[in-house]
Amino acid sequence: MTPDILYGESRERPYAERRAAADIFMPESVITDIAAHADRGLEEDREVMGLLLGRIYTDDAGEYAVVKGIVTSKLESDRVMVRFDRDGMGELVDAIDDMPEDTDIVGWYHSHLGYGCFMSDTDVKTQDGLFGGACGFALVIDPKRKEIAVFDSTPGSPDVARMVILEED
Ligand SMILES: [Zn+2]
Repeated sequence: MTPDILYGESRERPYAERRAAADIFMPESVITDIAAHADRGLEEDREVMGLLLGRIYTDDAGEYAVVKGIVTSKLESDRVMVRFDRDGMGELVDAIDDMPEDTDIVGWYHSHLGYGCFMSDTDVKTQDGLFGGACGFALVIDPKRKEIAVFDSTPGSPDVARMVILEED
């Protein structure tokens, strides 16, 4: 089910000291976009999902992600599951191709409708499939409870990641 295009190729990560002790840096506007997407899904009683695009950097403490935006496509979903619609994959690939060349897929997001933010067995499989232990994050948002959590890519049992929200300049 996980499309091959989502596998990140391993590449040299640029060195840059992180601005705070966090694993993932997220602009406020991206959180707003994700929340709006999740709210639209909630109105239709559907989960939503998308990819987090940005850049993976490295410093002395290891790798971390800076998110720049999100991309999504046509979804197949109901109140307890979501996946990219097969017909929407072209749209997704086009959107990723339009991004600057140094853009990484740094994670993915999806919503849970009222049952809280955690990684289900399916979510863990998706996370392992996308990143296979390489740096990458899963953001789970519950638009009913108005909660967000982010998890890292520890294979088989993702840990809660530390996220810093960046206010816009
Ligand atoms: Zn889930």
